[in-house]
Amino acid sequence: MIREIQAKTLLAHVRGEDRVFGLKYNFNLYRGCPHQCIYCDSRSLCYGIEDFRDVLVKVNAPALLANELPRKRVKGPIGTGSMSDPYNPVERRYGLARRALEIIAGCGFPVHIITKSDLVVRDADLLCQVNRTQAVVCFTITTPDDALARLLEPGAPPASARLAAMRTLADRGIPVGTALMPVLPFLTDSEENVTAVAEETAAHGGSFVIPWFGMSMRDRQREWFYRELDRRFPGLRSQYERRYGERYECAAPGGLRLAQVFALVCARLGLADHMPEYQAPVIQPGLFN
Ligand code: SF4
Repeated sequence: MIREIQAKTLLAHVRGEDRVFGLKYNFNLYRGCPHQCIYCDSRSLCYGIEDFRDVLVKVNAPALLANELPRKRVKGPIGTGSMSDPYNPVERRYGLARRALEIIAGCGFPVHIITKSDLVVRDADLLCQVNRTQAVVCFTITTPDDALARLLEPGAPPASARLAAMRTLADRGIPVGTALMPVLPFLTDSEENVTAVAEETAAHGGSFVIPWFGMSMRDRQREWFYRELDRRFPGLRSQYERRYGERYECAAPGGLRLAQVFALVCARLGLADHMPEYQAPVIQPGLFN
């Protein structure tokens, strides 16, 4: 079900220093996400989304952003894509991400986008405009294997389409890379898989890969994930239950070794482990006196 809603506010401050994504502000244009990744953390009870299969569309998001952004005195990267993919299929109809980029370009703020969709290529022209300040696009790729990705992220475009989009944006001069997260225990935690993600990223013009060698699991998220494991990967659930019980942070077995191997691969390929940093322009004292 798709339902239009009016949000009260849009931009949230990111507290503390965000060393990985480098965000100062964050916003979400949708609640719920049709990509339906089986491991999605946004299903957790704490986020208060009744049924994550529904998509709530914040139709007044552009108006809110146009009002809130010019009031921000500190320029810093604005992130989107943490709770719902801004380029989910509903975006084709509503164009909220496009309108948000127009506003961000007009205000001269940097933007950091996380997505699993090649739809982001639609907005390459605007990303180029925003990139006069900074526009970074990070594609989440848990595996380059399209068949496996389809089982894990059934509503998202194939990993190969995300990689093709990465190449297109890289060719337009947009900084691009990959979020390799989560790395799912017993599913995507092989050296071959994480190496392939890094190699495909480099081959498609990416300059960074941000890894997380494990996953989170809590309440409703765990229930959904286990139900989908039973459907898609029979027998695997018991391995998870034995190893992790009720734990929230679930590190991949052999995660330390995996991280070491991965770091060597990234060093060989020249890939960073974080998004490009935003350097705020230095205003020379007295320049405008
Ligand atoms: S794309 Fe992100 S927000 Fe959407 S279902 Fe997947 S993990 Fe959740």
